[in-house]
Amino acid sequence: MSHHVKEREEDDFSFNCPSCRSGVIKIQKTIYDSHDGDQILILKYECSDCGYISKDVVPVSSKMKPGIISMKINKENDLKSKLYRAPTAKIEIPEFELVMEPGPNADFYFTNVEGVLRRFESAVKIYRNNLQKDDPQIPEIDFIILNLQKALEGKFPFTLKITDLSGGSYIVPQEDTPYEFEPKNIEASNNEKDFHIS
Ligand SMILES: [Zn+2]
Repeated sequence: MSHHVKEREEDDFSFNCPSCRSGVIKIQKTIYDSHDGDQILILKYECSDCGYISKDVVPVSSKMKPGIISMKINKENDLKSKLYRAPTAKIEIPEFELVMEPGPNADFYFTNVEGVLRRFESAVKIYRNNLQKDDPQIPEIDFIILNLQKALEGKFPFTLKITDLSGGSYIVPQEDTPYEFEPKNIEASNNEKDFHIS
């Protein structure tokens, strides 16, 4: 089967090298077209410092059309599932009532589920530290932080929901990480109770 390269680009979104921790990973995306019309996305990660290289092969069917994707995170391995959030996408964890609104945040476009949890954890901690000592929200916030920490160890099952009404986000689930895709154009509902960060 022969493929030809349709698109090749270097992206600037980056994360630290999982091997040496100091280098910055460059991500190169290549899209291949096959004869039968399928497309395959190859993501290559390369460290600028230590030479670490890793690859993901993504069937483009996992690239989102407008809609909602829900990934079930039940165990530690599921935390390695990766996602690319388009700037128009919203990320939610309904179990924690946490919402990450769409918006430009270049360092966060490409991450894994663990990265999403850590991002939420630090936002919630910052929020908590800015509360008065006797704020009635504190017990609830502490409970969320505790459960986020359990989730980071794969000991608190939760749902990671990406709502992308423009399309273009994608996920790279671990082989046995269950997910569902629901194509639709809906107005994102606003729940006042949710904790929003951007
Ligand atoms: Zn490295």
